[in-house]
Amino acid sequence: MKVFVTGGAGYVGSHAVRALCDAGHDVVVLDNLSKGHEQAVDGRARLVVGELADVELLDRELIGGGFDGVMHFAALADVNESVRCPGLYYENNVVNSVRLLAAMERAEITRLVFSSTCATYGEPEACPITEDMRQQPINPYGRTKLAMEWAMRDAVDAWGLGATALRYFNASGAAADGSIGEDHTPETHLIPIVLQVALEQRDGVKIFGTDYPTPDGTCVRDYIHVDDLASAHVLAIESQKPSTFRSYNVGTGRGTSVREIIEAARTVTGHPIPAEEAPRRAGDPPKLFADPTKIQSELGWSPVHMDIESTVAAAWRWHSAHPHGFSPASQEAAP
Ligand code: UDP
Repeated sequence: MKVFVTGGAGYVGSHAVRALCDAGHDVVVLDNLSKGHEQAVDGRARLVVGELADVELLDRELIGGGFDGVMHFAALADVNESVRCPGLYYENNVVNSVRLLAAMERAEITRLVFSSTCATYGEPEACPITEDMRQQPINPYGRTKLAMEWAMRDAVDAWGLGATALRYFNASGAAADGSIGEDHTPETHLIPIVLQVALEQRDGVKIFGTDYPTPDGTCVRDYIHVDDLASAHVLAIESQKPSTFRSYNVGTGRGTSVREIIEAARTVTGHPIPAEEAPRRAGDPPKLFADPTKIQSELGWSPVHMDIESTVAAAWRWHSAHPHGFSPASQEAAP
């Protein structure tokens, strides 16, 4: 299968590109490298550096390009930034995504796998979260992802698109060989922040909220290994039928608290990782974890990494070998 991957130089995208190549697929990546990293793109894929907003570029690549499907990762994904700059999020995540749908229609490509998010559920009715629960996002980021899900459903009805929305929980970990991993600037995610403390790049970690209605008072999330997310994408694109919309929650089904993550990181790194209790972060639901039954039964997917320590250990292999991420300094520091 020949697959066009937008955002294939980013964190989840680069792991999916590698999984596609490993499965024998032919991959072309489109990335503007604003957040992604050229070094993250598998050498077997062709990288086109350009903008999703460049409709002529899309037509040039897609029309007559022989593509069977598209995986669409390119998006902005910082919840706090989306609150401050909603226009930027609607432009990147909705307008550009709708342009991609139109380009797919012109190129007659009918398979799409889209990076959606558990943020489309907002404060869920219950946990674990099933796909049929009400989607009521509580921030612009979640709303832009939900808007694209609706645009996909309408394209399914209007011109026969076949589309899958994979609603990710907390992407974490890194490739088993430690060669690609998470590198965001600025970093806002818990696991990389905790590991930066272990690398002595930060003095400590703040625990945002210790008075939540959860067993230890801190927020509970479902940390899904990025390679398990990648395998879900490969299964989804391979099984996609035209004129069909599907949505799947992609998580382990297990919740882990902030304190448990810090504890796992202490075990993995041997560093004491000082932690300080801090006020709640605005917009954080107390508890989010998936019911992954639907993707397990319909696509035969199951996560390989169920143990949080092994996911944190995978992230640690990446961060400790690349203390400055993909930047040139890291290459000097890498063994
Ligand atoms: N968190 C924290 N300290 C940090 C970063 C995150 O306590 O420095 C908490 C955050 O409040 C949330 C959980 O860790 O409950 C996961 O946050 P992250 O930003 O990694 O992912 P999110 O669930 O927001 O997508």
